[in-house]
Amino acid sequence: MTFQKIDGKKTSAELRMTIKKQTEERLARGLSKPGLAVILVGENPASEVYVRNKCNACEEVDFYSLSKTFPYGVTEEELLNLIDELNNNSAINGILVQLPLPDHINEEKIIEAIDPLKDVDGFHPYNIGRLALRMPVLRSCTPKGIMTLLNSTGIALEGKEAVVIGASNIVGRPVSLELLMARCTVTTCHSRTVDLAAHVKRADIIIAAVGIAGFVKGEWVKPGAVVIDVGINRLDNGKLVGDVDYEAASKNASWITPVPGGVGPMTIASLLENTLQAAELQSH
Ligand code: NAP
Repeated sequence: MTFQKIDGKKTSAELRMTIKKQTEERLARGLSKPGLAVILVGENPASEVYVRNKCNACEEVDFYSLSKTFPYGVTEEELLNLIDELNNNSAINGILVQLPLPDHINEEKIIEAIDPLKDVDGFHPYNIGRLALRMPVLRSCTPKGIMTLLNSTGIALEGKEAVVIGASNIVGRPVSLELLMARCTVTTCHSRTVDLAAHVKRADIIIAAVGIAGFVKGEWVKPGAVVIDVGINRLDNGKLVGDVDYEAASKNASWITPVPGGVGPMTIASLLENTLQAAELQSH
């Protein structure tokens, strides 16, 4: 079976161009630049890179952005005060708190303090609830990016068997809700799932979001299945790989995302989309 690569880099670049154009149109209407605030706590090199990339991406599409870094020992109250300030700052349309937070900070309390209409990560219970009820407002970035990639293949999703491996709040659960909204028949697997391989083997669409290199075996992939690999795992030799055994899986798949260059680039593009959407919502 010959497979086609789902090119996240290309789709993300096209999306950014569209966002830039829509931003120009917004400015021409006399409205402000969409504004994103990114909050970082502690000195996590990976998180610092993510925050820098997000701010650079904002610059590229002519958004306003600010980042605020706190030391590891910041109190919950200090964070809540900043969120309150940003909720009331009309130059800021989107607020993102880079996760994970230190153990002494209650992550749910912080996320719930963000104005749901500024929750551009789409993690607030309001936004997850709206998605569950098929009335999404701001949708979680990685799941939204996955749906953009699936739609880029032109494959009709209705009625397809979708198997999601992973049930986290940031990927597995919201992407399951997205697929359900797209009228797939969805199975969400996790660490307690019995006979995982049997579930994966009947899938037309496989979403792997586990965080274990090469976890999904090639022989689990039904001929013609679409494979979306969300995993980002760094091997001892420094190589970045996904959760799917790419070489083996691509022998059976009809479409497959590479790692890197698949889902990864879509997450920031979705964040920009959400920030523009939030700005538009707040302009009405
Ligand atoms: P996570 O919070 O660690 O969740 C992992 C999920 O996998 C959990 O639901 C867990 O089950 C399940 N799991 C673990 N071992 C399993 C097993 N043996 N069989 C079946 N399920 C198993 O991870 P995450 O935040 O969702 O991220 C998953 C991966 O995606 C990571 O590699 C991460 O780096 C990557 N990621 C990429 C992007 C991107 O932009 N491309 C964005 C976010 C995450 P339980 O619920 O039972 O514990």
